Amino acid sequence: MADHPDLPLRVLPRLTPANRPFWTGGAEGELRFPRCADCRCFVHPPSPRCPQCLGKALRPEAVSGRGHVLTFTWNHKEWIPGQGVPYAIAIVELDDQPGLRLMSEVVRCTPETLRIGMPVRVVFEDRGEVHVPLFEPADA
Ligand SMILES: [Zn+2]
Repeated sequence: MADHPDLPLRVLPRLTPANRPFWTGGAEGELRFPRCADCRCFVHPPSPRCPQCLGKALRPEAVSGRGHVLTFTWNHKEWIPGQGVPYAIAIVELDDQPGLRLMSEVVRCTPETLRIGMPVRVVFEDRGEVHVPLFEPADA
């Protein structure tokens, strides 16, 4: 956890060579996933091989950051003191590739406004070196 008094508490990842492009891409406003150099498939969750062609030449590459809410739930349990509840946990499917999905949070919405199918775009929560990818309504 990092000390950011204006932000809700959040468990942050330990950076590794493999996950660094994903967690730090937000510094340049980019949501990055490994992409297969052979068949151009974005790979998430991370894997040492492309699930489409079994290629091993995976390189981080930015996606558009646009997608839609595939499903969501509102969490009301404060798992970490000071976490801030409720918050919306969602699976977002990105426009860049069918089936390319990311579990994250949707911010700047309420239980009255968040809907399945809602267009969203990525926003980044700056936690120092780590930039946590979140989503907001595309019309926000
Ligand atoms: Zn491939």
